[in-house]
Amino acid sequence: MITILAGGTGSVKLVRGLASVSKDITVICNVGDNIWLYGLYVCPDIDTVTYGLACLLDEKRGWGIKGDTFSFVDQMKRMGRPAWFGLGDRDLATHVYRTEMLRRGKSLTEVTIALAKTLGATSKILPATDDEVETVISTPRGEMHLQEFWVKRGARPAVTGVAFRGADRARPGRQVVEVIKKSERIIIAPANPVSSIGPMLAIGGLRRELVRAKERVVAVSPIIGSRPVSGPAAKYMKAAGLEVSPAGVASYYKEVAGSLVIAKTDWKMAGRIEQFGMEAARADIIMTGPRGEARLARYLAGKARN
Ligand code: GDP
Repeated sequence: MITILAGGTGSVKLVRGLASVSKDITVICNVGDNIWLYGLYVCPDIDTVTYGLACLLDEKRGWGIKGDTFSFVDQMKRMGRPAWFGLGDRDLATHVYRTEMLRRGKSLTEVTIALAKTLGATSKILPATDDEVETVISTPRGEMHLQEFWVKRGARPAVTGVAFRGADRARPGRQVVEVIKKSERIIIAPANPVSSIGPMLAIGGLRRELVRAKERVVAVSPIIGSRPVSGPAAKYMKAAGLEVSPAGVASYYKEVAGSLVIAKTDWKMAGRIEQFGMEAARADIIMTGPRGEARLARYLAGKARN
């Protein structure tokens, strides 16, 4: 069994690749970017992974359902309501379904499993916790929810800090702990280290399980050279006092991962990664299209058998 810790747009590629090469994978998803909007509970990373595994994901945007329309948010705008978050009309059904079940007393784990089944996702998806954890970005204009920083403000403000509200009280889901204990390999997807994996590592009970499993945990670097493959990871890493490089990623994961897979072009960095007590493995870590996703997945699944 392989478990993968995932964020959203970067992670979903490897999640899909692994699902194409192995039947027995479980995805543990970030919940720090979840947000209440219009009375609905929206879980962007869980939805990206669910849509990705159900062949529903809009590949161009990297989020939402392909071919979706946006009449709901357009109408909200006309009615003078804030409408900065892109909620597609079909996507909206997911949030209504989820919120209805939560209000009936189901846990986020139960809802996530049910939604994945209903939508046709091919692997098990679990939220890291059933408790609410919120990633908060500090800027010179004050604190704001990660989604407000990223979507509403277009990631423009300077970032002075990143915090995970509620993480100190949150407990990992029961099934999350079980799969980490049982898995022959736990993969940390190429994800935003601070904003996608950070909220999970901030949950004490989850972090402890990973520390125990460390020799079975392999992370894939989202940074090549001194740049992320895409997105705002550099801003968050700098704010967290990390060097923007595979070595910076290693320093962040050193207690929870036994090895880090880096790009072949970053081989000079291997020595610095090993100084953190981690093995540095080199592979082609850019995933372009299903073939690239499956190639990296096969490499990682192979590591799981060794
Ligand atoms: P988010 O929730 O949308 O931020 O998505 P994730 O946390 O899942 O992933 C974002 C990270 O994935 C970014 O830091 C990218 O640099 C990284 N990324 C995206 N595509 C790739 C890829 O093909 N290979 C690698 N190694 N990293 C990638």
